[in-house]
Amino acid sequence: MDCIFCKIANGEIPASKVYEDEYVIAFKDINPVAPVHILVIPKKHYESVLEIDTDGSILNKIFNAVKIIAQQMNLTNEGFRLVTNTGEQAGQTVKHIHFHLIGGRDFQWPPG
Ligand code: 5GP
Ligand code: ZN
Repeated sequence: MDCIFCKIANGEIPASKVYEDEYVIAFKDINPVAPVHILVIPKKHYESVLEIDTDGSILNKIFNAVKIIAQQMNLTNEGFRLVTNTGEQAGQTVKHIHFHLIGGRDFQWPPG
């Protein structure tokens, strides 16, 4: 399958990795929208939230990684945002589920 995030997960193309375990990898977004912009992905390919395992186990792994990365990046005091875009209207451009962990500046709510 021609998936850029699968290629990053299996080391075929380089990325600036900040976290890795058996199930999850996280790396810096190539086009950051904030001082900290990390993409947290399962190594296994799922297109989106709509395909994720219903037992929730991969989500546990992802949220565990998010917590560790937020601590590593010193974001636990000032806060951060975690976003997963699903489908066209939400602006999902890469069809391998990813969670944007963004921080280091103020964010608006509701988003644009
Ligand atoms: P989406 O728009 O699907 O929610 O987010 C996709 C994100 O992946 C974008 O923020 C984009 O900058 C990032 N991205 C796309 N291709 C690459 C790549 O090859 N390497 C890295 N590190 N980030 C990428
Ligand atoms: Zn993939």
